Amino acid sequence: MSSAAQPIETGRQTMEVDIACAGFGPATGGFLTTLTQAWSQNPADPAFESRVAPGMPLQVLCYERADDLAAGVSGVVTRAQGIRSSFPTLDPAEIPMAAAVKQERVFYLLDPIGASRRSALLRLGDFFLSLGRKLCLKDHAFELPWTPSFLHKDGGLVLSIGQFNQWVGSQLMASGLVQIWPGTPVSGPIFAEDPNPKTKGVVGLRLADQGVDKHGAPAEGFMAGMDVHAQLTVVGDGPVGAVGQQLDKRLGLPAGHARREWALGMKFVIELPEDTALEAGTVWHTLGFPEPEIFGFLYVHPDRLASVGIFVPSWLGDPARTVYRYLQHYIQHPLLWQHLKNGTLRSWGAKSIEESGKHGEPFLNGDGFARIGEDSGSTNMLTGSGVDEAWTTGVQLGEAVLELLRAGKPFTQENLAATYEARRRASWVEHGACEARNARNGFQLGFVRGLVGMALAGLTGGRLALRANIPPAPKQIRRHGMYETAGLKLKQAAALAVSDGRPLHDALMTARGWPEIPFDGRLLVTHQDALLMGGKVQAMPGFADHVVFLDKGLCVACEEKTCVAMCSGQAITPGPEGAPAFEREKCVHCGACLWNCPHSPDGERSSIEFQAGSGGLHSAEN
Ligand SMILES: Cc1cc2nc3c(=O)[nH]c(=O)nc-3n(C[C@H](O)[C@H](O)[C@H](O)COP(=O)(O)OP(=O)(O)OC[C@H]3O[C@@H](n4cnc5c(N)ncnc54)[C@H](O)[C@@H]3O)c2cc1C
Ligand code: SF4
Ligand code: SF4
Repeated sequence: MSSAAQPIETGRQTMEVDIACAGFGPATGGFLTTLTQAWSQNPADPAFESRVAPGMPLQVLCYERADDLAAGVSGVVTRAQGIRSSFPTLDPAEIPMAAAVKQERVFYLLDPIGASRRSALLRLGDFFLSLGRKLCLKDHAFELPWTPSFLHKDGGLVLSIGQFNQWVGSQLMASGLVQIWPGTPVSGPIFAEDPNPKTKGVVGLRLADQGVDKHGAPAEGFMAGMDVHAQLTVVGDGPVGAVGQQLDKRLGLPAGHARREWALGMKFVIELPEDTALEAGTVWHTLGFPEPEIFGFLYVHPDRLASVGIFVPSWLGDPARTVYRYLQHYIQHPLLWQHLKNGTLRSWGAKSIEESGKHGEPFLNGDGFARIGEDSGSTNMLTGSGVDEAWTTGVQLGEAVLELLRAGKPFTQENLAATYEARRRASWVEHGACEARNARNGFQLGFVRGLVGMALAGLTGGRLALRANIPPAPKQIRRHGMYETAGLKLKQAAALAVSDGRPLHDALMTARGWPEIPFDGRLLVTHQDALLMGGKVQAMPGFADHVVFLDKGLCVACEEKTCVAMCSGQAITPGPEGAPAFEREKCVHCGACLWNCPHSPDGERSSIEFQAGSGGLHSAEN
């Protein structure tokens, strides 16, 4: 960078750039690809002359928290409409682990064990299905005779998001226009100085301090995070990113909007047996097992690799949301197990999905900043699609920025609204978001009504849907769910946990009737072993804890400890004095703790704050 870092009084250095981006996922990939493609077509275009370093090309920097660019966690099957328009001659063979979609099937899974919590209505439905066993059931699964059109990914791609990000990132770095800095968490936006806290102005990004203790206080080797001042700050830090969170906290959301729907997606990458019958490009969606509320997927990549995963949503009321154990039961369902049983676990990963869509859309832009991707509410939960939407919002911002640069106009709220937001509102992303807006409301009323609502919305283009009040995520957890049905079982579980030394939530599932996992050390491995498999847990030293418990009193009094049950990395454990303990080194940055706490200090947010941090579990295959 031409504009060298300047020390200031506080020891905090500052730097001036044209464009600073927070987070490198598909959204920022789409944004930077649009810029670099235009630059490589005409590097002499005066639009690309830097405003902050005249005579130099545009100064574009991107900071990514994770320690490499392949840190994403995601299925993925995507229609790839936006991705293909950025790469019209794209051949899936160019991207490791990518395949064209060949077969799509949807299954309703029955519970062959009898441990899942099914309503009377669902049990009745299962009973009728099993009466017609020979006609419509195979492997305890009912295959929908057709895949609803809204779920179809015709002409799409099966991808590993980690490999895709790396493929995009290497092209961007090679362009020479863009610098991407992995291992560099952004602690938050720098707001424009203004007495009015609601003023929507951002002048750059502050990088996280290093050499601090777990509470963020300066310690040995203290180095204040740099202030990166930018003409435009691009916020693409995904569902739980610190920059987006702080913008929401300061600016609020547009009237009537709220972020209340979430899911934790957890997946295994499995090497399939040599004689597998599953061909690359196979896409299966499932519902009904291990709990009715839990949707699952199996996507097959080339070279006998499969991504298999589940989503545990915020509307699963039970506080014992033990996702890793659920995933192990899921892969053992007869429909899947026949294909997976001789396979080998290569890696796993977990990540939150922000599922509110249009309901949770924030202010998309302000003076000096714009929000793209899942952080901006782009994920479509009717079609189960987030990657292509995120990519496309990035492309739309890229086109808008080029238009403004060429016109010599500044990145004001007005100009960004007229270019970026206008493109977005006129596009298929917006159309899809409007169709999906109320598609999943019904799940607040129960699983069956949820399915009816989704079908109604999907088949009528969103014109019909069920009405429901969506409570804040903390209130979706039925606080006493564990005890209503399982007072005795809780005692059994507590005894098991003491005698086996296993986590209480795991013991609770056993006490509730879920069979023990027959660990084989290859595919069915303990959670702790999985943490070390295929990826790496790397928490660089010297950063503050990024999971912060806001109210210790609430935690001590809390009976559910959902944060412990849900923690993907077993990084949150019951602490010595009744409050939970957090081990930064074990955290995989899935963000699930943010929305998995039933106690809310303010009625809307949980008692946990998820801040910027480095490290996490990264497998390039995820
Ligand atoms: C298990 C699972 C399966 C999924 N399956 C599908 C699917 O089949 N099809 C589909 O289309 N979508 C799927 N999705 C959703 C899809 O992955 C997301 O919608 C998509 O990745 C969003 O892209 P994004 O660029 O907006 O954000 P992300 O991909 O979340 O990227 C944001 C980036 O910002 C970084 N970051 C966060 N905070 C900071 C910070 N403070 N400083 C610096 N960097 C930061 C993160 O590390 C991350 O790399 C799935 C998601 C999961 C979890
Ligand atoms: S953060 Fe505290 S209050 Fe919330 S679930 Fe965990 S222990 Fe309970
Ligand atoms: S502590 Fe880390 S691993 Fe555990 S739920 Fe929170 S983000 Fe995920």
